[in-house]
Amino acid sequence: MARVSDHRTHPAAAPTPARQGTIRDANLALLYRLIVDAPAPVSRAALAAVTGMTRATASALADALLAADLVQEVSPPPATGAGRPAAGLVPSSSGPVGLGLEINVDYLAASVVDLAGRVRGTLTAHGDQRGRRPAEVLGDLAELAAQAREAADAPDPVVAGTAVAVPGLVEASRGRIRRAPNLRWEDMDIAHELRGLLPDASFDPIVGNEADFAALAEAHASREHAALTDFLYVSGEIGVGAGIVLGSELFRGARGWAGEIGHVTVEPGGASCRCGARGCLETVAGLEALRRTGPEAAANPLGRAVAGAVNLLDLPAVVLGGVYARPEFAAALLRGVEQTLAEHVVSARWAPVAVHTSQLGETAAARGAAVAVVRRIHADPAGWLEVLTEA
Ligand SMILES: [Zn+2]
Repeated sequence: MARVSDHRTHPAAAPTPARQGTIRDANLALLYRLIVDAPAPVSRAALAAVTGMTRATASALADALLAADLVQEVSPPPATGAGRPAAGLVPSSSGPVGLGLEINVDYLAASVVDLAGRVRGTLTAHGDQRGRRPAEVLGDLAELAAQAREAADAPDPVVAGTAVAVPGLVEASRGRIRRAPNLRWEDMDIAHELRGLLPDASFDPIVGNEADFAALAEAHASREHAALTDFLYVSGEIGVGAGIVLGSELFRGARGWAGEIGHVTVEPGGASCRCGARGCLETVAGLEALRRTGPEAAANPLGRAVAGAVNLLDLPAVVLGGVYARPEFAAALLRGVEQTLAEHVVSARWAPVAVHTSQLGETAAARGAAVAVVRRIHADPAGWLEVLTEA
């Protein structure tokens, strides 16, 4: 089951105006959490029983969530015995949605995700973004965002907020890109640039690294079957990045810059990398190298870099995503990485590392970005109620 941290302490979230947290806010969040995480509709009586709140308190809080369209009531199954079964609460399918966007080196993507975590719409626009002016790219991205919202399988959804995934180092707390070497973008206030371009949203844009958001999508999508709670997500694109998930939460490092596996040195003195160093993983396992040398040649250095992370962090699973999941590369990379991990992970004899290929396709990061917006509402429903009051 995925846990969610409070957005006020979550490094991916943009700062929000200070709000005095009250016991009611905390209870509201507790109740909403239970409804969101429950595998089946939850009755008001069950909410009171689980939380220890009085029936009246739990019911009043549930009414507040209903009024804000954060939950909806679903009919109980037909009664077979005595007594009328209670109506259950589930996350609302008509409530606010999260809009996730991705700027990648060779495509733009947009995804709309509802409060239940369902993808309601996805769009992709292919095209090389390198060397284009940021303002042009952001204009195209905003247009794609508007189209995705229009095409979403939800009538005129209210967009609660937008999160944008970028391939580079991001200072999430300030909404800035520090460096996206493959886009050749440096030190840019992308949250500010996007604010005026996007559909009406109540929250400031969240900015994050594409591999981090893709990892979040992977953790979220796995909730319903074999839950992945601790894993390394490796995203192969023109560049190579990673997202580290520990206890179902992203581990971002002290300043949010963890996961730069693409710049681990795998060939001392090797080819020069766009970051300025030589022999980085990206130079032998990025998309251009994959096309040049084939997946068999890339699998070993990729596996060695991944083995380093696994040895360091004790991770039981690895997910290969981005272009690594494309049919022409997936099988050979999976086999090669598995074999390299068996040789280089010291604990592999007793506990082999599970290697998976991502099933989410190239919109994983956009989807994860939208999930980040939705999780923000899950963690702080009172914050959303306040937005509605101010509107
Ligand atoms: Zn590098």
